[in-house]
Amino acid sequence: MKELTPNRRMFIKSLGVASASSLLLPSGVFGGIPIWSTTVGDIIDRFIGEVSGAPFSQTVDTLKAGRRDMEVTGVVTTMFATIDVIEKAHSLNANFIIAHEPTFYNHLDDTEWLEQDDVYLYKKELLEKYAMSVWRNHDYVHTLYPDGVQQGVVDRLEWNDYFDPDNRNRYRIPAMTLESLIEHLKKSLGIKTVRYIGNPDQSCSRILLMPGASGGRRQISLTSAEKPDVLICGEISEWETAEYIRDARSKGDSISLIVLGHADSEEPGSAFMAEWMGANFPNIPVTNIPATNPFSFR
Ligand SMILES: [Zn+2]
Repeated sequence: MKELTPNRRMFIKSLGVASASSLLLPSGVFGGIPIWSTTVGDIIDRFIGEVSGAPFSQTVDTLKAGRRDMEVTGVVTTMFATIDVIEKAHSLNANFIIAHEPTFYNHLDDTEWLEQDDVYLYKKELLEKYAMSVWRNHDYVHTLYPDGVQQGVVDRLEWNDYFDPDNRNRYRIPAMTLESLIEHLKKSLGIKTVRYIGNPDQSCSRILLMPGASGGRRQISLTSAEKPDVLICGEISEWETAEYIRDARSKGDSISLIVLGHADSEEPGSAFMAEWMGANFPNIPVTNIPATNPFSFR
């Protein structure tokens, strides 16, 4: 896909910048009346049109709230359509959230088991009250070439010169200690704390980068095949990948693991989506609102 220019990146980099960019739009948008008739379906179809093999007959990328024919007043891109993100979107007069992950706490957004749940009902009613559409863009953005989430992360890390075109999980970076690598990740991705297994003095060059939660088997199989210095993941099952790395180190392998946190590891993908919106629908205000890591650390 297209390379991201610094100007375009700056356009949506933060809530503050994106809000400022809205000032360029005609005043009619601020009255809640969209001047350009772009529907939720128009945006979804345009994105899907760029993905090879799409549309998919089986996908989790469905509308979680709202309607395809709803006219869009503004778009918010994010990792999770949290209640906080929904409130912020509404306050920005945006009525379409493009989220990467589920809205209702399970992969398929199955809501039957939640019908009596007060948290689910609160969120559902809030979305209805604000007439907000939510589309999950997970399978499609990951199937783009290059993977839009991975590209967003690599842009932030400034690792575009280091990936292997045959396997974009594989990087060879200038050697640095594990400690320096952790600092680079935290600074580039805006993460306060990561978890790791390994020796902070270990020299790291061969990296396996797997944002998100690709699952223990995939994380372990790729690690086994690639033998990287470091495996960097978004989310792991502690009883799978972490125990594999512990045993590999006990056996004598020089390998480390860094766990970034799921939301933090893939949030650059929603910045990527905001870039895409800006390039494809320049007349629609777009704001990237990071969902942020829900955990506190002490
Ligand atoms: Zn993902």
